[in-house]
Amino acid sequence: PAVVNKIAAGEVIERPASVIKELLENSLDALSTRIDVDIEEGGTELIRIADDGEGIPADELPLAVTSHATSKLRQADDLFCVQTMGFRGEALASISEVSHFKIRSRTAEDHVGSELAVTCGERSDIRPIGCAPGTQIEIRQLFCNTPVRRKFLKRASTEFGYISEQFTRIALACPRMQLSLTHNGKSVHRLPATNELTERLTLFYGSQTVEQLIPIEAEHGGVRLWGYVGHPSLNKSTRKSQYLFLNGRYIQDRSLQHALNEAYRGLLMTGRHPVAFLFLEMPSDQIDVNVHPTKSEVRFRDQQFLFRLLLSTLRTKFLQSD
Ligand code: ADP
Ligand code: MG
Repeated sequence: PAVVNKIAAGEVIERPASVIKELLENSLDALSTRIDVDIEEGGTELIRIADDGEGIPADELPLAVTSHATSKLRQADDLFCVQTMGFRGEALASISEVSHFKIRSRTAEDHVGSELAVTCGERSDIRPIGCAPGTQIEIRQLFCNTPVRRKFLKRASTEFGYISEQFTRIALACPRMQLSLTHNGKSVHRLPATNELTERLTLFYGSQTVEQLIPIEAEHGGVRLWGYVGHPSLNKSTRKSQYLFLNGRYIQDRSLQHALNEAYRGLLMTGRHPVAFLFLEMPSDQIDVNVHPTKSEVRFRDQQFLFRLLLSTLRTKFLQSD
């Protein structure tokens, strides 16, 4: 079974950034208002996350690191609700199978927290521990017992780049969440909670960029599209400033990417890319979720409709803002 578990772990957890994605989503699911992330050496030495969410009662702690044990009510079409981002009760089990893992948690009702350590799948006894309400998870020596995978990790700075990207997706999707990220003891992001997405965007891209963003908003057939796109004079030479969120979750979508490029066609200098922070909200029965849950691609029931909605919204906007 150890081998089976290690293989399963490899499917969910590819690199330190996959760990961060799962842990951040768990903290969101737990209704946290604040999440702090500390990384050392690109996550190969240490990944630590602390949240102020609802916590886990002591007697449920072993379940949290058990495969297929999810506390989250879930149906297939639940996958894209903000409240249930989890990967079917696999993440913590998988991570703790291939690392030195420690979880501390306390619910608001309990006066004392509890701690559980798992070393490459070997569980310790649960012990009481004083801690603030919420959950703290520490992962050291990721892939310590899967040397090939550990060996194929990239340089710490590259791995940290992937981590930072996962962090950014959550930070832009949830401006109301207070967030911090440090790497090797250095603060990389310190983001206060805000109701204004533009405030958060300013911390990432600077006020010069944000001043050139155009707000967009459209609603049609139960679908709401809103967000900000760059004025055509503002354009970047990479795709790093393009984010699309579906019901609070980061996604990638070729067709919508295409619509974005179409809208800007002839407006940008060659080699430049549109800047866009777009949010789609729609009932989950319009989304097919038969795509692997750790992947960010989705399939829409009516792709054409969304393509036209985005394209026409942007075109109308550009005509107005000329
Ligand atoms: P899933 O998220 O799919 O349920 P995970 O392996 O990611 O599976 O987590 C297992 C369980 O551990 C969750 O269902 C939840 O009950 C608990 N859990 C994990 N992280 C947290 C957290 N930060 N706060 C509260 N509970 C958590
Ligand atoms: Mg999860």
